[in-house]
Amino acid sequence: MTKLLLHTCCGPCFLGVWEDVQNKFEITNLFYNPNIQPNEEYEKRLENLKLAVKGKSKNILELSYDPTEHWQVIYGIEKEFPERCLKCYELRLRKTAFEAKKMSFDVFSTTLLVSPHQQHEKLKDIGNIIAAEYDVEFYYADWRPFFRRGQDAAKYLKLYRQKYCGCQWSKNEIQM
Ligand code: SF4
Repeated sequence: MTKLLLHTCCGPCFLGVWEDVQNKFEITNLFYNPNIQPNEEYEKRLENLKLAVKGKSKNILELSYDPTEHWQVIYGIEKEFPERCLKCYELRLRKTAFEAKKMSFDVFSTTLLVSPHQQHEKLKDIGNIIAAEYDVEFYYADWRPFFRRGQDAAKYLKLYRQKYCGCQWSKNEIQM
């Protein structure tokens, strides 16, 4: 089966994507989200992802959590929404592509594609550009129709569902 390295932002979004990919790929989740602040929020999302993937994914790869990696790429435009998000997408997708290539995955993708709150077309463009750079395929799909089902599944499993995107600035800007 085709091996997918799936950058995963949180459990509820994964459950939405799962509706579509479960019979298409062998999935490994990559939890690389240095944008999430504060640390307690990061831990909460990761713990809930572990509950969400039970019986579904092969495993979760968690990369080290260092918020300065995010800060470095958005420095100077941190208050500019949605411009800073493009840097945030690039950071996370670039790392995913790098790991996918290193570990010989067939394709990479991101659960951010399920969210109607993200800049979907920009994610698609950035994913394709990075795929060409790293010579590993980006699996694009418009998963947004599955967003509500993911949220409902998370509710059913009593998972935590965050109310903001991730960074400290998003707390005042985005209500999810
Ligand atoms: S709002 Fe979300 S996507 Fe944008 S920079 Fe903050 S964490 Fe990243």
